[in-house]
Amino acid sequence: MSKQRGQHKVIIIGTGPAGLTAAIYTARANLEPVIFEGSQPGGQLMITTDIENYPGFENGISGPELMDVMRKQAQRFGSTSYFKTITKVDFSSRPHRVWADDGTEYTSDTVIIATGASAKYLGIQSEHNYIGYGVSACATCDGFFFKNQRVVVVGGGDTAMEEANYLTHHASEVLVIHRRDEFRASKIMVNRTQKNPKIRFALNTVIEEILGTEEGGRKSLTGVKLKNVVTGETVIHNCEGVFVAIGHQPNTQIFNGILDMNEVGYLETAKTSTKTKIKGVFACGDAQDSIYRQAITAAGTGCMSAIDAERYIETIDVE
Ligand code: FAD
Ligand code: NAP
Repeated sequence: MSKQRGQHKVIIIGTGPAGLTAAIYTARANLEPVIFEGSQPGGQLMITTDIENYPGFENGISGPELMDVMRKQAQRFGSTSYFKTITKVDFSSRPHRVWADDGTEYTSDTVIIATGASAKYLGIQSEHNYIGYGVSACATCDGFFFKNQRVVVVGGGDTAMEEANYLTHHASEVLVIHRRDEFRASKIMVNRTQKNPKIRFALNTVIEEILGTEEGGRKSLTGVKLKNVVTGETVIHNCEGVFVAIGHQPNTQIFNGILDMNEVGYLETAKTSTKTKIKGVFACGDAQDSIYRQAITAAGTGCMSAIDAERYIETIDVE
């Protein structure tokens, strides 16, 4: 019995580096991918300034510029963008079905999930004002910009310890701010951090406000107002950078109960592939990667998912 074919061969959910790379590959394979851009067209790199570690750009490139070029590259080969968010999926039968926020239903032989992850932020207004101007959620990405400057890292988990140690390669001093006096991080990571002469700790402490100046339209971060949650005492700590390392949230809520995910929500894929447990559904980028979370690794797994999808389509063509 021949299988019912979808209205599309490939639907890609998300247009960060993973989704757009998957689009470039599937478009070049004449699969005419349809890409859903969601609430952050271009993904996380749209909220950052210079990208200096994406290969191919000797002098770096701005995040928005990189994503704009990637989208144009995908469109040149025939991908179609819909500026819509997918709110519901049904992978229980073929073709796979997805629904956009305007209620439209789309069907496809394959679905590539590239919905990324969102860094958790503290949620205070002053933090929002300085994202990209001193507030960052990625030390590997932005640490270089804080050469010989003072920075703080917020969080008590392994990421915070790792970011603090990494930042000592650039910054003159690092203050780790943690809301409790016990760490969630592993002992070995805490020990390593405590032994680092450039790192100090402010425990039982939270950031009440991020302070800065604005001159000629250019914002500069100048410090943080800290509050000791035990004594209630507040102090101003002068610094140029704030790294928020309180965890990431993968954007995978719509796949709850449908696809396998770990306890935090990262999608699980079969080893050395991007295949989920459902045939024809693939996952790539930060939605599936709890470890590396870089633009180049997202692009890499986006490429893998395109090749996985292409090979899968070849198999249904002969069914
Ligand atoms: P994302 O970039 O997160 O994109 C996800 C996409 O999915 C978005 O388009 C979103 O709109 C879409 N989406 C989500 N849900 C839905 C839905 N339901 N329906 C439709 N669309 C949906 N990495 C580096 O390598 N170098 C750097 O210098 C660097 N700097 C960074 C700076 C900052 C401030 C941040 C936050 C991250 C930085 N990173 C950097 C990390 C990098 O941005 C990520 O690793 C990368 O963007 C992940 O790509 P992705 O395609 O998996 O997902
Ligand atoms: P995490 O383990 O969930 O730790 C998050 C930290 O941020 C916790 O200390 C938490 O405080 C704090 N926090 C959360 N919300 C906060 C808020 N609103 N304000 C202030 N502080 C807040 O996250 P993670 O450190 O990103 O690690 C995620 C996973 O990756 C873990 O399994 C970790 O082991 C792993 N990882 C491993 C390595 C490594 O092995 N080298 C490196 C990085 C990450 P509380 O403790 O008070 O809740």
